Amino acid sequence: MRTPLIAGNWKMHKTLRESVAFATALAARAGALPSVDLLIAPTAPALAAVAAAVEGHRIGVAAQNVHWEREGAFTGEMSAPMICDTGATWVIVGHSERRQLFGETDETIARKVRAALTARLTPIVCIGETLAERDAAETLVVLDRQVQRGIDGVTGTELAGLVIAYEPVWAIGTGRTASPAQAQEAHAHIRQRLTQWFGVEASAACRILYGGSVKPDNARTLLDHPDIDGALVGGASLDLDAFLAIAGAATRAA
Ligand code: PEP
Repeated sequence: MRTPLIAGNWKMHKTLRESVAFATALAARAGALPSVDLLIAPTAPALAAVAAAVEGHRIGVAAQNVHWEREGAFTGEMSAPMICDTGATWVIVGHSERRQLFGETDETIARKVRAALTARLTPIVCIGETLAERDAAETLVVLDRQVQRGIDGVTGTELAGLVIAYEPVWAIGTGRTASPAQAQEAHAHIRQRLTQWFGVEASAACRILYGGSVKPDNARTLLDHPDIDGALVGGASLDLDAFLAIAGAATRAA
């Protein structure tokens, strides 16, 4: 049985003070949601303070990116051991904004996944097709390629602990959501592939999140589906009540 995970990706939003205030308020209210895992991904400068604010509560903290090297001349980058130092234990890898705006590829994503696992950070590996790819009926082929290359070299044991986020690019920040049937079809396909490559046990343990304009009013219908194990939430995660409402929908769907 997979525990639902509701993860908030704050992107480049919230000052240090706002981040800590949100995390403190979330920690105070998270106890009411014992059957769902919660996670927030603040900006890098807020990681340590947010991790301290939620310490002792069942709330994960994630970085939004990681470099694959431990250290070196990589201006502006942050390594997995450095993320661990902040108290964060998760990292988002390969978000579509990083792929589209910062040139990330399946190959660099695989290196980041390896670096995260080596440092004992749990990666949330993002995949998803563009609108042009969906319109060309290439969705499942794209997902196959992104999963296979993005987690290249991962073992079955490692797969069981990591998280995959299916985020159709055309649904991120656009207000357009994949229909629950479209999302379930993609999730079931990904799980089938994982079963083929890693075996039933590892595949059944791997959580697959949906991301793309998840809001309190559409969360329940998405999370009701058997292969949708939670959500990666952008815009709606910036508002505490909306984020908690989505988590509440996951609790009821569990
Ligand atoms: C995201 O950033 O991963 C995301 C899904 O954003 P939004 O919920 O705003 O579409």
